[in-house]
Amino acid sequence: MRLSVDVVIVGCGVSGLVAALSLPEQLRVLVIAKGGLEESNSILAQGGMSVLLDETDEDDYFADTLEAGHGENRECTVRIMIGESRSALDYLRELGVEFDTDSQGQLDYTREGGHRKRRICHFKDYTGREIITKLLQRAQQRDNVTFMDHTTMVDILESSGTCVGVRAVDGQGDELEIESGWTILATGGVGGLFEQSTSFPIMTGDGCRIAREHGVRLENMDYVQFHPTGLYSPGDVRAVLVSESTRGEGAVLLDAKGERFTDELLPRDVLCEEIRRKMEEEGSSYVRLSFEGLDADAVKARFPGIYESCLERGYDMTREPIPVCPVQHYLMGGIHVDENSLTTMPRLFAVGETSCNGVHGANRLASNSLLESVVFSRRAAAEITRQHAACQTGTA
Ligand SMILES: Cc1cc2nc3c(=O)[nH]c(=O)nc-3n(C[C@H](O)[C@H](O)[C@H](O)COP(=O)(O)OP(=O)(O)OC[C@H]3O[C@@H](n4cnc5c(N)ncnc54)[C@H](O)[C@@H]3O)c2cc1C
Repeated sequence: MRLSVDVVIVGCGVSGLVAALSLPEQLRVLVIAKGGLEESNSILAQGGMSVLLDETDEDDYFADTLEAGHGENRECTVRIMIGESRSALDYLRELGVEFDTDSQGQLDYTREGGHRKRRICHFKDYTGREIITKLLQRAQQRDNVTFMDHTTMVDILESSGTCVGVRAVDGQGDELEIESGWTILATGGVGGLFEQSTSFPIMTGDGCRIAREHGVRLENMDYVQFHPTGLYSPGDVRAVLVSESTRGEGAVLLDAKGERFTDELLPRDVLCEEIRRKMEEEGSSYVRLSFEGLDADAVKARFPGIYESCLERGYDMTREPIPVCPVQHYLMGGIHVDENSLTTMPRLFAVGETSCNGVHGANRLASNSLLESVVFSRRAAAEITRQHAACQTGTA
């Protein structure tokens, strides 16, 4: 079957949806997704989305991002992400996404590893679900946006070095040739390639692999982040993440003797190393995370999703420490893109986890990926809008 659209978006997580919603309504947009429309890592995001508090926070936020990234970040894109973070937040709220507020109606910021300040907006511990539910509703109301679930991109279409669409296979096994003026890859990370990961198994780096087969530049593909605290539960297909914000709110890591052995808010890569060393020393597959110092009702109210997931696996985190260990979590590298998310192939864009715009450097600062996805998907849509207008007026 052959289809023709103005823009095809491969992926239905936060980056694909924001791109779809940011494109002008006169463009025909098709979003395809390998699994169900809600089967994205975006929906799993617990901790939240980091934002600039005010202009006095700019240098601190920049320094925290670079420190976590070991200085390998692209400084200009970090500045863009931070500079556009408040407008990204306003944009989500205008679309109906809710974030927790305090009794005065002010945003209730939380803190995670590597952040020197509380600057993370969240909705309880299921920020991703809140974002995806609202964005999906909005996008499904748009007349110009069509969705095809269980439809897998197997290749991109190339003509004279320019991307002109994608080849896909639908749920019935039928092949589709989708011709498009512009193509956006929003295919997420590589967690499905790892034995223990917080990711849905369908995220297998397809965007990166296919891009590379067409000579599109990739960057830092070996920069893979492990999260320090996945719930140790060997039978699970996907590791349950115990958000960093649990540690931000006071949960502590204990060794086999029940003693604290590290600073829980170290950047992720450093803390993973500390935990690994402890596990090795003790010959154990996990360490323990204790909520003992926290009020049990407050823990249940603030972390309902994590509490339930642990309970389903036989652990009541308000009564006993839970077993945790490092698990694969995020890809900092990906398809090389510029500050407008354009790859090295004309008319091919990449956004979100599958792209590498350099904001994360060698290690992502917690809660910077939802933000990055929103900011740079909006920029991709703006650039496509500009290119489309130039084609219409013959100035391309
Ligand atoms: C458990 C967990 C908790 C997290 N918590 C946070 C957090 O609190 N804050 C934060 O900032 N970040 C967090 N992250 C990271 C963040 O959620 C992701 O990096 C981000 O949401 C990625 O969004 P995305 O749109 O790029 O990809 P995804 O949301 O993963 O979506 C990928 C999409 O691509 C589609 N796809 C893949 N391959 C193909 C193909 N071949 N053909 C068609 N479709 C394809 C999938 O079907 C899916 O729709 C968390 C991640 C996990 C796993």
